[in-house]
Amino acid sequence: WIRVRGLEKSFGERHVLRGIDFESRRGTSTVLLGPSGSGKTTVLRSLNALDIPERGVVGIADVEVDFARLPRGRAGRREATGLRAQSGMVFQSHNLFPHRTVLENIIEGPVVAQQRPRDEAVAAARTLLEQVGLGDRADAYPFQLSGGQQQRVGIARALALKPQVVLFDEPTSALDPELVGEVLAVIKDLATQDWTMVIVTHEIRFAQQVADQVLFLDDGAIVERGPADQVIGDPREDRTRRFLKRIL
Ligand code: ATP
Repeated sequence: WIRVRGLEKSFGERHVLRGIDFESRRGTSTVLLGPSGSGKTTVLRSLNALDIPERGVVGIADVEVDFARLPRGRAGRREATGLRAQSGMVFQSHNLFPHRTVLENIIEGPVVAQQRPRDEAVAAARTLLEQVGLGDRADAYPFQLSGGQQQRVGIARALALKPQVVLFDEPTSALDPELVGEVLAVIKDLATQDWTMVIVTHEIRFAQQVADQVLFLDDGAIVERGPADQVIGDPREDRTRRFLKRIL
């Protein structure tokens, strides 16, 4: 469902991705773990063409982009953005529109970008709000919500686009500790449904519970991969062991 082959990306002199390969099956969750600066966010941003690698292929469902063959300039960027429509991204902080209600924030993408009928978008948004435990906050403004609630709205907003995959970039790292659990609970709930997800997180226990596949990155390469119980519970590589020891 997700196919990544040979991703290479540099920022100036820094070779940030050094040949990333992996696949994710439909309906599964893939968690990226690794030290700060190992390239996790850059992998995620390459999946939806927010970052454009120099080389490599990303395929999501029936869209595939070979970055080395992209035409230069605007035409290339346009082709790469075909990937963007395949995914919904949840960032560290939610970036909700402050002057719009929760409901208006969620229907913006479906109505404006996807030109779906407003009634249909509103009905779908209400269902999603129920799902993230905010069925009674549709008419609230972001500032009236806690950080955890805002982030749950951010998740509902990403899902409203009905993306083929949902990408989470450290979705709880900007939250106060007591608000982390409610957001992780929502993501765990999504993992039991049909969503295909790629998650960057430092929450190891959560990763162990949610991941079908864990990829451990170090210095721009995947140094270990496998089921969560193996990579987190019984790592084979020294570098994985050292990383886990540091953060557990
Ligand atoms: P963290 O856990 O700290 O978020 P990460 O594993 O997600 O780290 P990336 O954010 O992918 O790592 O960054 C990998 C490397 O690329 C880092 O050294 C970072 O400084 C560098 N980098 C990322 N984005 C840019 C950019 N736009 N310009 C220059 N360097 C960048």
